[in-house]
Amino acid sequence: MKNPNWHRDEIILALDLYFDRDLGTMDSGNPKICALSELLNRLPVRNHKIDRDTFRNPNGVTLKLSNFKALDPNYSGKGMVAYSKLDKEVFEEFSSDTDLLHNIANEIKRILDNHELSNAVSKIENDEMSEADSVKEGQVLYKLHKVRERDRKIIEAKKKKVLKEKGEIKCEACDFDFEKIYGDMGKGYIECHHLIPLSNYQVNKETRLDDLALLCSNCHRMIHKDLRVKTIKEFKSKWM
Ligand SMILES: [Zn+2]
Ligand SMILES: [Zn+2]
Repeated sequence: MKNPNWHRDEIILALDLYFDRDLGTMDSGNPKICALSELLNRLPVRNHKIDRDTFRNPNGVTLKLSNFKALDPNYSGKGMVAYSKLDKEVFEEFSSDTDLLHNIANEIKRILDNHELSNAVSKIENDEMSEADSVKEGQVLYKLHKVRERDRKIIEAKKKKVLKEKGEIKCEACDFDFEKIYGDMGKGYIECHHLIPLSNYQVNKETRLDDLALLCSNCHRMIHKDLRVKTIKEFKSKWM
């Protein structure tokens, strides 16, 4: 069985290791390379079966690192030029911002190290992820975004707060009111969007009600096209 192409999240994690100054020699005996191999085998980004023996084994990880060498203008040797288009894209995106890369990689690792979170994240179907293809921070953090938005308790608390303050529940961007259009069936229906940009995520931090916006399904879909939008005001001034 041929191993699947590297996923964006996987490349992010490998590239972060590539820029680790204390990495040491890049070979399959390196404990950091072995640890990444193990981590990649737990990453919840695929539905289909993988070949446990060969999938992202330390040799495969080492090869990926030598792909980065070929892309790295600061590397004087040769590296392995058989990198993918996505390898090149991710390398170019992050090589000048390794701090951001490191933050994203760390948050992904934090999710995987937290049993409850990694369970919740792996329950989000990959089919829902077509919209996440272009998410800079990768699928795992995007899935966490979805997990947060589906937290019943916090959604109810948010709706209650808004109802108390404004006397009604409608889309914060376009004013769509489900109850007005759909009557009783739409009463109290609204979606919740988490406004903190994925790259600023601190996995261990609790969601505050102010981090959430109430949106209709259309506006919610659209705001997911650009998760860097930090406020509904910004979203509206861009598109409405
Ligand atoms: Zn709306
Ligand atoms: Zn959202």
